[in-house]
Amino acid sequence: MKQDKNIPYKIYLEENEMPTAWYNVRADMKNKPAPLLNPTTHEPMGHDDLSPVFCDELIEQELNDTDAYIEIPQEIRDFYKMYRPSPLVRAYCLEEKLDTPAKIYYKFEGNNTSGSHKLNSAIAQAYYAKKQGLKGVTTETGAGQWGTALSMACSYFDLDCKVYMVKVSYEQKPFRREVMRTYGASVTPSPSETTAIGRKILAEHPGTTGSLGCAISEAVEVATSNDGYRYVLGSVLNQVLLHQSIIGMETKIAMDKYGIVPDVIIGCAGGGSNLGGLISPFMGEKLRGEKDYRIIAVEPASCPSFTRGKFAYDFCDTGNICPLAKMYTLGSGFIPSANHAGGLRFHGMSSTLSQLYHDGLMEAVAVEQTSVFQAAEQFARVEGILPAPESSHAIKAAIDEALKCKETGEEKTIVFGLTGTGYFDMVAYEKFHNGDMTDYIPTDAELQVGFDGIPKFPGNEF
Ligand SMILES: *Cc1c(COP(=O)(O)O)cnc(C)c1O
Repeated sequence: MKQDKNIPYKIYLEENEMPTAWYNVRADMKNKPAPLLNPTTHEPMGHDDLSPVFCDELIEQELNDTDAYIEIPQEIRDFYKMYRPSPLVRAYCLEEKLDTPAKIYYKFEGNNTSGSHKLNSAIAQAYYAKKQGLKGVTTETGAGQWGTALSMACSYFDLDCKVYMVKVSYEQKPFRREVMRTYGASVTPSPSETTAIGRKILAEHPGTTGSLGCAISEAVEVATSNDGYRYVLGSVLNQVLLHQSIIGMETKIAMDKYGIVPDVIIGCAGGGSNLGGLISPFMGEKLRGEKDYRIIAVEPASCPSFTRGKFAYDFCDTGNICPLAKMYTLGSGFIPSANHAGGLRFHGMSSTLSQLYHDGLMEAVAVEQTSVFQAAEQFARVEGILPAPESSHAIKAAIDEALKCKETGEEKTIVFGLTGTGYFDMVAYEKFHNGDMTDYIPTDAELQVGFDGIPKFPGNEF
């Protein structure tokens, strides 16, 4: 293996090199992401409108489009020390296997018990809930990574944590559930009899296995009807992208330290938080006209919000009780086929990333499931890490870019986000190995059904 002499195989940062503030990319955006709207009045939502649902300081972060840097409280930096910095790894073995002149780096976020980047925001959200004197928080979880991360964060700050877990995952991923319970969280399969919305859904659809949108509605109901509770969310929101900027800032500091300049930056996109975090400081340079980078969002062809969605105000949940967000969306009624990248099945996308994409500052590609698992396996066999299916979308796109370099002879530097590990996704790997995995791509007519559910009101033309 021919290793660059001056660059370590894995780049870590020293404690004194770690970022002390998160970077808020919205401060540098000329076209700001559109504000959240009240679903009934269609008026922008201010602090007071949001405070029954969200924690006060997190609302401030959500609404802050002007401060480029927001200090990371010492308590959060102390927690980050347990598992950060995450390594920036040069994928020498993969490069050799692909026989590409490209230089491939990945930022690995799977080195903590929750197994993904979600802990970066979970700990911040739990901290602000504790600081506000709350008893606990509620949330939903689909694949389970967010619920696990939040359970860890809540136990650290001694907060109660109520997780509504999509029933199908609750049944299919009992071990995820037990990890959450180990950290003291209560885990309820959704839809459940514990909420009015859950009872309504169960009455209308007996035997339903649930959906993310439905679990969100239940978690919000519980937060707003119990004193001392607020609802927290693991992706999509501006505040989550802000916390996840720790990924990009560490990456940038590490690359600057060794004079590495990426040409292409790649991340998988579910609700957009890891990608938004990874690209933020690079996007900042791009927005300020200092540098240029190619930035690629990778999504499943079965849930193609960026590549086939509409840019419009839409509901974030099935119950239609959450604020409206302007984003690339497939419609809140869109139910993606049972693909195995659980964390990439949300119908919408972060408003911040949606605006950046709309303004031509980033690209998006959709990839099919079996090709993603091929890439996952190829990566696991040479780099040692068993990647999460979500992360493997980014691997697939990075491999494709590296193979293009092989054709053209270009020595591009590619960096991608490896968001987590896939130990709880072995049923999906099993399907892939047995040849039972399918590639479902929704037809235009199927997507139209989802688009028909996007609310129509003056100013929301799409
Ligand atoms: C949740 C999750 C994602 C997708 O969420 P984003 O908010 O788009 O980052 C990707 N990878 C892993 C491992 C996840 O847990």
